Amino acid sequence: MSRSTQEPGRLPRVLLPEDVRSETLAVREGLPATPWGENSEALFLTSSFVHPNAATAAARFANEEEAFVYSRFTNPTTMMMERRLAALEGTEACIATSSGMAAIMLLVMGLLKAGDHVVCSQSVFGSTIRLLQGEFGKFGVQTTFVSQTDVGAWQAAIQPNTKLFFAETPSNPLTEVCDIRALADVAHAAGALLAVDNCFCSPALQQPAKLGADVIIHSGTKYLDGQGRVLAGALCTTQALIDTKFMPVMRSAGMSLSPFNAWVVLKGLETLAIRMQAQSRTALELAAWLEAQPQVARTYYPGLASHPQHALAMAQQSGLGGAVVSFIVRGDRPEAGRANAFAVIDATRICSITSNLGDTKTTITHPSSTSHGRLSEDQRLAAGITQGMIRVAVGLEHIEDLKADLARGLALI
Ligand SMILES: *Cc1c(COP(=O)(O)O)cnc(C)c1O
Repeated sequence: MSRSTQEPGRLPRVLLPEDVRSETLAVREGLPATPWGENSEALFLTSSFVHPNAATAAARFANEEEAFVYSRFTNPTTMMMERRLAALEGTEACIATSSGMAAIMLLVMGLLKAGDHVVCSQSVFGSTIRLLQGEFGKFGVQTTFVSQTDVGAWQAAIQPNTKLFFAETPSNPLTEVCDIRALADVAHAAGALLAVDNCFCSPALQQPAKLGADVIIHSGTKYLDGQGRVLAGALCTTQALIDTKFMPVMRSAGMSLSPFNAWVVLKGLETLAIRMQAQSRTALELAAWLEAQPQVARTYYPGLASHPQHALAMAQQSGLGGAVVSFIVRGDRPEAGRANAFAVIDATRICSITSNLGDTKTTITHPSSTSHGRLSEDQRLAAGITQGMIRVAVGLEHIEDLKADLARGLALI
């Protein structure tokens, strides 16, 4: 049996047996069959590709022959990353973008026009809210924000011009979990598509396409890279939507991922599953420990039995809670909550004080003065983000070291 394809007019690619599992796909899917037979994924730093003659160039520009043309929309390293991520998400295809926000911009530019309407969870990433409401609002796309966990609210927000549902689960920093299959059913009954930002779980824990989502959005900056090195993004969906809706926008608008960053993410995908499993296990231990501390008023983590959507999260996320834990330190007044939260953050000597997440290094942040600092206090309280809240994105350090790092500050309260 041949180990690669050789169809005329198509790029040769390495073939895997049809039924290999995700661990195997993560380290092997997507390799092109090059004349050199390299075993490790090569980095193609080139802006354009040379054609043997003018007629071939014309055929390639007309999409009559598959070939690399220009790295704004085709590059071998980026293609490897796209194929590998699509395989892990269980979608036909993927298109890489320069950041997670660029993927959301591509989503809206590809699917919507002025006069269209979006129903979006109110607990999505802050920049997603600003992009939809502010930037796309300027171009006549309207968005209604609803409670992430209330399927009835999504249903009630539907208008005749609703084209898209947008959810992010679990959400940041409250780790609210929505029922992807239920939202897909409501969206589809209204003739709309469901997009899910799968940043927090990654395909290692959750594959929204298998639950009915039409488009999966990624910030590759987080767990896909996994080591806090590059900005990257991706949109995973059907080949037909990529060909007809998203590739034309990419070709014209150019929110492309650099091949170097694609290569970093491609190598990150190889260890994604073992990192997500290890980081989720540590996060569960840390969350259970935090929940038992007298200075902690409340802990938010989908893996805890006390989480409001615990059963749904376990069913939807391969039995794991992910690696983000939030908690509220005690404080009788908002100022006391803030002072206590700052004291805990400032007493750490291991956790990095930064709002990035998805890194092997644990990060700690105060959402109400950083990621959610541009909201008013009323908006923050409506979203459940109090001054005493701390978010920890658990990395690969030893659990006892992380507990000790947080215990230092909690002892001061
Ligand atoms: C970080 C993040 C984004 C944006 O991704 P960038 O790569 O920073 O542009 C989108 N959604 C979620 C859930 C994120 O955490």
